[in-house]
Amino acid sequence: MRPGPFDYYEPENIAQALDLITEATVIAGGQSLIPSMRLRQVTVTKLISISNIAELSGDIIKKADSIEIGALTTLSDLLSSQIIEEHTPWLREAAQQVGDVQVRNLATVVGNICWSDPRANMSIALLASNAIITTINSKLQERKISLKDFFVSFQKNILENELVKNILIPNHELAAGRYLEFSRQRNDLALVNVSVVSSEKKTTLVIGGTRNVPLIIETDEHNKMNHAATIMNKIPDRLNDFHTDQYGSQQYRLELAISLARRVLNSLRCKLDE
Ligand SMILES: Cc1cc2nc3c(=O)[nH]c(=O)nc-3n(C[C@H](O)[C@H](O)[C@H](O)COP(=O)(O)OP(=O)(O)OC[C@H]3O[C@@H](n4cnc5c(N)ncnc54)[C@H](O)[C@@H]3O)c2cc1C
Repeated sequence: MRPGPFDYYEPENIAQALDLITEATVIAGGQSLIPSMRLRQVTVTKLISISNIAELSGDIIKKADSIEIGALTTLSDLLSSQIIEEHTPWLREAAQQVGDVQVRNLATVVGNICWSDPRANMSIALLASNAIITTINSKLQERKISLKDFFVSFQKNILENELVKNILIPNHELAAGRYLEFSRQRNDLALVNVSVVSSEKKTTLVIGGTRNVPLIIETDEHNKMNHAATIMNKIPDRLNDFHTDQYGSQQYRLELAISLARRVLNSLRCKLDE
């Protein structure tokens, strides 16, 4: 199907884009938005492409306290980044499993989280990384939001006429992480996906595909003993956070989550329990 008619804008700076934003929809790589427009699941009357905005970056930069991923950074950019390979290889594991190379060449990391699908690979891996996003509003004011506070419900987030400018991943001293997913077939979104990131202080497990927003389970920062066992014991308590649909029951999803979590935690165990 073709999308309905819409006006298309290509602003050259953030101020122009934000002038339009109250009545328009932002498009980056279009890899979530365009298929939904074509299926008429989303109706758009005005579309603002952010691809020509020079103030938005497609770079990945190592800063003193964080790694910064720009609004225009594609999944392919992330996969070829030495910084990501060296410091946060679990983000590579997540990006590698999004679609095919054509999709990854266009799809942005920021678009993946802003679409706010509870199974989106980058959302799961970035939540586990305690990522922070920087937004900018029509008064050109910036605000920093923990990704943990970003998702409201299925495909809904807290953005209010704002652009996401970048994602910041705080430095994790001695951090280690993994991402793993189970999907019914190649190129499908995951049925259940998990990511674990562990630093010396705490371990965060994020599970996607459970219900409207990803599920976050963390260890107590003060209890440094046996993070893996603590996390595994907490998963069954969250059975009510898993839903049933035509692809799998609540119990099936819970068991998938336990199995994936056990695998990622086992592969990180030396780091976790040392
Ligand atoms: C064949 C195929 C397979 C796929 N498989 C997977 C998969 O396995 N896992 C997975 O996670 N995803 C998958 N996807 C989905 C897709 O790749 C991602 O959701 C993509 O990363 C979205 O990024 P984008 O730049 O294309 O965003 P767009 O589609 O352009 O936009 C998505 C949303 O983000 C908003 N947005 C974008 N940038 C900004 C910004 N800077 N500020 C504010 N709002 C913004 C838009 O308004 C829109 O609501 C697949 C897609 C296709 C077509």
